[in-house]
Amino acid sequence: MLRAILLLLLVTASPAWAWNSGAHRLIAHIAWQQLSPSAKSAISSLLLAHPDYDRWTEHHQGKQFAFVEASTWPDDIRQDARFYEEFADPPTPSIAGLATTARHRNWHYTDRQLDGSPREGKGSLDTELPRLVAILADSSASRSQKVYALPWVIHLVGEMHQPLHIGSNHDKGGNLFEVEDFADQRQPAKTLHRWWDDLPAAPWLNGKALENSAQRLLAQTPHAPAQGNFELWQQESFEIARAHAYPPGRMITPEFRTQAKTIANRRVVEAGYRLGSLLRAIFGGVSRGTGSE
Ligand SMILES: [Zn+2]
Repeated sequence: MLRAILLLLLVTASPAWAWNSGAHRLIAHIAWQQLSPSAKSAISSLLLAHPDYDRWTEHHQGKQFAFVEASTWPDDIRQDARFYEEFADPPTPSIAGLATTARHRNWHYTDRQLDGSPREGKGSLDTELPRLVAILADSSASRSQKVYALPWVIHLVGEMHQPLHIGSNHDKGGNLFEVEDFADQRQPAKTLHRWWDDLPAAPWLNGKALENSAQRLLAQTPHAPAQGNFELWQQESFEIARAHAYPPGRMITPEFRTQAKTIANRRVVEAGYRLGSLLRAIFGGVSRGTGSE
């Protein structure tokens, strides 16, 4: 029975989801702490021009929370009827201020072959993130191009640090690998990909609890990691996916959870620092912002 339900879930679940919203907010919150006041203000003015800005500030006001909520936008549009599946459906009507209403599910991941050789399948995170970052850095790009690119960049830096987003095509980055986690009484059976997505935080993490969680993570890792580059971030994720992401016997033991949680937390902090550094390099300012405006 369990197996039948799981198979149904596998068939209906969309492959390669994402770090959940809580994890993306943590990454964005950490990144925001790394920004200079001038970078914060340049970034905020781009976010303010986004057609969904009001949604981002619906529950928590302020520049910081707009930035934090923008981090989940590329996942939120997957369930938003204004947007469409570009490989399956006809385009939805255009939205003023957005270049396209395509959902771009395949931008969130890249699958490799088991030996690590380059990309296999539709996932194009490896090329899309550099392209979108280049738009932000390009003085000849239009303002509306930058408005569109910014939430994607905030989101995809996080995705590149989710080990299974640079996974293997043979099991669709863990989407075809079922695990059992009896510590989760509500839903013990799930895909490995989903299990990793939910590891850093609850999806609803926000507000004061989010700030506290981010500060706890930063206290454990007070120094920025080497910035590296897109290739390094992907290689790190792929190696973690191969060496540490799969539980022996498909069973999540307490020991496996502890080890995986440590890795997931570390990846969230690394993504946060690196996103901050990337945005600082583009939007200016070398000094870190203090406080959280
Ligand atoms: Zn995503």
